[in-house]
Parts: sequence; structure tokens; C-alpha cells
Amino acid sequence: MRSPSPSSIYGTPDRIALISVHGDPAVEIGAEEAGGQNVYVRQVGEALACLGWQVDMFTRKTKPQQAEQVQHCPGCRTIRLTAGPTAFVNRDEIFDFLPQFVSQLVAFQQQEAVQYPLVHTNYWLSGWVGMELKNHQPLVQVHTYHSLGVVKYANVPHIPDIATTRLAVEKRCLETADCVVATSPQEQEHMRSQVSSLGNIQIIPCGTDIDRYGALTRAEARQKLGLSLEAKVVFYIGRFDPRKGIETLVRAVALSQFREDDNLHLIIGGGSRPGEKDGQERDRIEDIAQDLNLANLTKFPGRISNEALPYYYAAADVSVVPSHYEPFGLVAIEAMASRTPVVASDVGGLQFTVLPNGTGLLVPPKDIGGFARAIDQILADQQLREQWGQAARKRVETTFSWQGVAQQLSQLYLQHITQVTY
Ligand code: UDP
Repeated sequence: MRSPSPSSIYGTPDRIALISVHGDPAVEIGAEEAGGQNVYVRQVGEALACLGWQVDMFTRKTKPQQAEQVQHCPGCRTIRLTAGPTAFVNRDEIFDFLPQFVSQLVAFQQQEAVQYPLVHTNYWLSGWVGMELKNHQPLVQVHTYHSLGVVKYANVPHIPDIATTRLAVEKRCLETADCVVATSPQEQEHMRSQVSSLGNIQIIPCGTDIDRYGALTRAEARQKLGLSLEAKVVFYIGRFDPRKGIETLVRAVALSQFREDDNLHLIIGGGSRPGEKDGQERDRIEDIAQDLNLANLTKFPGRISNEALPYYYAAADVSVVPSHYEPFGLVAIEAMASRTPVVASDVGGLQFTVLPNGTGLLVPPKDIGGFARAIDQILADQQLREQWGQAARKRVETTFSWQGVAQQLSQLYLQHITQVTY
């Protein structure tokens, strides 16, 4: 068994590439379509660099003024390639620009006189890039889906034109990548039952920053946010996308037994400015809150920065993740790391992260009454909140730290690079 240190094989650290065509690891999270994938790629890249890898993270340039390279820490940088317009393009419309992305990546390797022995691709678009790159060079491909078309399309009203292509690419990727990383046993099961029985899958979860989340007391957090200790605080954070189920949360709060309580606060964070891509969903949710007479107790702080987010999680009595479909759901483990119980939909990765009656509660998606009862159960019982919050923290420390995740990925890479090299 070789040592799990990337520098021990060749004497110098290995250069590897993380590819995330539509999820730029260097942008601010929370606006436009930036969410969990961007966080995952950046955190994994930085943590791998701490283990000794030289990590180049490739993404598509989406604004003319964006830097072509961003150095995150020694050994880890983002490289923005020009493929298609230097403008935001919805992920369903990026496929045609991928051949250009591949040729830019090949040209970049030539310029730098490097050939990556391994690429870790993220989402089906990058999966295609990885498979194409294999036509140019010997390459180990590790792939993380972040979202599976076959599951997603069963949960959305409108199926985009690109669906057939996406499903075919996802199948080929599972069957041909050296290893596909499932972030939960539930995702692995979806791949096996709905994508293909062929291919190599290993489960390595997503992680979270256990130092950033969990360092604040509730009193400190509430003081900073101007919330009293007696307040009952229900918190949502995430993209404004209909599949996130924010409507279910708002309607559930309208049914809460604490609804007439002056001290009930519903905070719905995330989203970009009105008029931008997710603005429509935000307007729709704000209208529902108005119609249900919840406007006085609901706040929409917009995008919440990395620095501010720990205060919100720590201040909350309960964090709610009402998604219709959630491949993993970083928000759940961020809340848990902050010692806040989670009420989540009983779907996907949330079934893996949230332990019902242990660190929170799971409710069938879209079950408004069920969400109302679950939220109320936690709001009504301070002791339960504390107990589940402590258990949640413990679960994240043992299973979901980025350092632990990066160690597992590093071992996986070494195992496959070794197989190819020797
Ligand atoms: N996020 C953030 N600020 C915001 C909204 C979201 O930092 O205003 C972060 C959130 O903390 C989490 C990520 O975006 O790390 C969302 O990831 P998740 O897996 O929950 O959902 P996805 O966006 O992948 O669907």
C-alpha cells in the first residue's frame, strides 16, 4: 500500500485538474446559479492542495472583466477558459461550447508544458469534457455528478431540450470513468437503478468547514443580527430555484402554532438582485408571503456572505431544507455543524445527512402540514433543540469535514494514478 501523499510517488507534487465548466470556484456564492458545486470544487481544491497536490481548477469565463487566473492558496488556482460568449449562459445552453473548452484546455497544457494525469470532473457538462480529453491523452477520470438528470427531470414541470443529450452523457460517464464519486448511498442507488449497472462507484460525501461553522454561541449570533434570545427563528438559505421548495416552507410557517407569536421570525436568505435569473422565483415567494400575511415576520436578506452565514445558522432554532430533490445539500451539514437541528425533505442526500429524531426531522417533500408540525416540534422544545444540535455537530465532525473528504479523494486519486502508471 503506497503512502497517501501525492508527492511521495514522483518526488514532486502531482498536478491534477478539477473541471467545473459552469460552476466557477472563484465566484461569490449565492447569486445567479452559483451554489453547492462551486463550494465543493473550491473547498476540495484547497484541501487537496494542503495535502500536497498541485490543483488547477478549470471553469468557463463568464464576464469580460474576470481575471483569467485566481490563486486561492499555494498549490491551488482557478483558470478561466474562453468557450462561447464571455457572459452568463444558463447551464442547459452550454453544451455547444464544450468542444472549444476542450481545445482551450489542451492548449493550456501545451503552454504550461504539463499533462494532467488525472481530471476530476463535476456535473455532466464537465464529464463530457473529461471523456473528450481522453481522446487526446492518457488520463484518469474521476467524476462527481452533483445532480442526476434522470432524478431531476422526474421532479420538474419543464424538461429542457438538452435532456436527451444529458442523459446519454451521464450514462456514458458512469460506464467509462475510472471512478464515479457518489456523495451519498442514496445517490449511488439512483445511479445503479436509473442510470447503469456498469461502472465503478465509490461513496465519498461532501464536506463542510467545521472551524467556520460552530464557533459562535447562539447569544453572540443573535446579538449581532439584532434578534432577542426569546425569538423563534426559522432559517432557509440557498438558491431561489423552484426545486428548492421554498414555497412549502412559507406555507408551512403560515400553519405554525407560533404564527401569532410576535417573536416568530422567518429568514429566507440567498438569491440575487431582482431582474436576474433567480429574481422571478424570489418575486413569486415574496408574493406568497404577502398573500399569507407573513410579510411582517419574514425577511429576505438576499445573498449572505461566507463571513455572515455562520451568524445566521447559529442564531436559528431550526434550519429548513424543503427541496423537492437534493443530490446532497451542503446547507444541511452547515447548519448541523453550527449545532442547529434541520427539518428537511425526505429525499436524496438529506436522507443520509439528517438523522430523523437524532439531528432533526425528515418530512415528505411538499408536505406543508408535515413541515409545519416538524418545525413546531423543534420550536416548542428548547431542550430537544439543544440535544439534536449537539448530536448534529458530532455527526458533522466525524463524517463531513472537508479535510476528511479530501483525504478520501486523495487516496482514490493515488489508487487510480498508480494503476495507470505502473
Ligand atoms: N450559499 C451562500 N450564500 C447564499 C446562498 C447560498 O453561501 O446566499 C451557499 C450555501 O452556504 C451552500 C451552497 O451555497 O454552501 C449551496 O449548496 P447546496 O448543496 O445546499 O445547494 P445547491 O446550490 O448545490 O443546489
